Amino acid sequence: MKLIIFFLVVGAGVFAVKLFLKGRSNRRRRELLNVPFPQAWSIILNNNLPPYQMMPPELQKQLGEYIRIFIGEKSFEGCGGLILTDEIKVTIAAQACMLLLNRKCECYPKLYSILVYPSTYVAGARDSLALPPTDSSVRLGESWSHGAVVLAWDSVKGGAMNFRDGHNVTMHEFAHQLDQEDGRGDGVPILGTRSAYSAWSRVFSEEYESLQRKTEAGKKSLMDKYGATDPAEFFAVATETFFEKPVQLKKKHPELYHELQSFYLVSPDEW
Ligand SMILES: [Zn+2]
Repeated sequence: MKLIIFFLVVGAGVFAVKLFLKGRSNRRRRELLNVPFPQAWSIILNNNLPPYQMMPPELQKQLGEYIRIFIGEKSFEGCGGLILTDEIKVTIAAQACMLLLNRKCECYPKLYSILVYPSTYVAGARDSLALPPTDSSVRLGESWSHGAVVLAWDSVKGGAMNFRDGHNVTMHEFAHQLDQEDGRGDGVPILGTRSAYSAWSRVFSEEYESLQRKTEAGKKSLMDKYGATDPAEFFAVATETFFEKPVQLKKKHPELYHELQSFYLVSPDEW
């Protein structure tokens, strides 16, 4: 009996703390959204992110709200001598938040820090956060399940400004973040219904195996062959292709396009 009371008291305490934190977070978000979207940030979006101008006003408004929350809640850190600017923060936040539009979801709840290097960096040589060491290969970006994304600014900006080449390192790394939200980086993000999981599993397995076969045979494919590495990379690369080459993806891989559209709830082929 005493044990039951103990657990009830602990449970009530945890619930009260969660409620308090949620209330504080909601208040903070209201404060962030009460500030008008800075004109200087609109100029950055217009200059650095071509699809922004093509988006319907409702999506532009949503994106503006997500960007304010993202920049207000996440910690940005310049690495390798990089001085952070609004241009860097807004360009990263905008591309990351394009993956959240219409989905009424939390804003990367497990992500705390974005580490930005000036250009391609050597993994394992990070200069601030105590992240797990890896091999010392050159990287454009990385997504850690421990709450951090690491990016190279030159690749981030290049990926944003050239929005039709199928390569976007920011979207790639943030797709990994979405994939990791359920605790597993396995190429299957949180989908909701059982039927959604079974359709996703069938289509993604077939498409992943098809890309592997093409890659092994040295054949050309719409998606970057890096997607054939494993299912998690396939989802990240498919996300890049969905946003950057939507018309071609819809035509050549209609089922894959449909699954991604059902998840992302936007139609980038119309932008
Ligand atoms: Zn990746």
